[in-house]
Amino acid sequence: MAPEIEKVKVLIIGSGPAGYTAAIYAARAGMNPVLYTGGQPGGQLTITTDVENYPGYPDGIMGPEMMEDFRKQAERFGTKVRYGLVTKVNFNVQPHQVIVDDQVEIHADTVIISTGASAKWLGLESEERLNGKGVSACAVCDGFFFKGQDVAIVGAGDTACEEASYLANICNKVYMIVRRDEMRASQIMQKRVMNNPKIEILWNTETEEILGDDEVTGARVVNNVTKEVKELAVSGFFVAIGHEPNTGIFKDFINMDDSGYIKTIPGSTKTNIEGVFACGDAQDHIYRQAVTAAGTGCMAALDAERYLASKE
Ligand code: NDP
Repeated sequence: MAPEIEKVKVLIIGSGPAGYTAAIYAARAGMNPVLYTGGQPGGQLTITTDVENYPGYPDGIMGPEMMEDFRKQAERFGTKVRYGLVTKVNFNVQPHQVIVDDQVEIHADTVIISTGASAKWLGLESEERLNGKGVSACAVCDGFFFKGQDVAIVGAGDTACEEASYLANICNKVYMIVRRDEMRASQIMQKRVMNNPKIEILWNTETEEILGDDEVTGARVVNNVTKEVKELAVSGFFVAIGHEPNTGIFKDFINMDDSGYIKTIPGSTKTNIEGVFACGDAQDHIYRQAVTAAGTGCMAALDAERYLASKE
């Protein structure tokens, strides 16, 4: 059976703050957007608990609830929100061809990519079980909950160093768990953590287990040279071992950096392909905040609107 083909003006791929904000703007501009949620509707915020740094929520809000609000607001203006995963694209043709769930074929005048990024995890059972209960992949989001307490952070790149320094400003003590005898981070970032008296670096150290039943109470770590095992009494455990942008399906068409983050023309959300725009964490490895993602989602909708107007 030939696949059904649907024609849309604005197709939004991804349902985090960037995608839904793009949808709100595109819908209010009368562009009848269709949004596909992807495999994790609501995106990374659905695996966090309290969000306290998104303006407009003075008492904070739970991440999943906030994303429900985003969805409702997008739908209120007519966005068609659909559950489905984009499995293939062809951006070499106009309109752009997008296949959803290997079945539905869409021809889109403009495409807004807001597929986000996923944090990398260590892969421990205890890490998954205690996620949101003391285990976090975002110090800026969750550090505040551990004010005055002892925490640990895994990783030795620029993100880990930056987040360790951020945590040291809030927490009592920060253990930095580094698996080798050197760091990958830039010299300046390394110096910053090494000179911070609140940060203790544990070299050649790996995490065996994050401890706690309902919330984190510690971490068992092992020195991979001496084989010495010790338990760190911490209430927060941060993982900062990198992120993976969810951009693999676009790689044959869209310019990206070495890590797979989409390159946009500075000051815009334009990609190298006419009519294809990128916003949120799929193109941002620096800020990665809900509010910055939402901001670029707005930009993408406005860029798409102007592009469509210029074609009429
Ligand atoms: P990176 O890939 O640079 O670093 C990941 C770190 O995690 C490495 O130290 C790696 O160790 C460690 N790691 C990976 N897997 C494991 C594991 N299973 N167990 C323990 N440790 C592990 O990621 P970042 O997020 O730090 O940075 C991504 C990019 O963003 C980089 O280009 C960085 O420079 C940039 N960036 C720049 C900033 C700035 O300029 N202010 C701020 C933040 C990021 P190992 O070294 O042993 O492989």
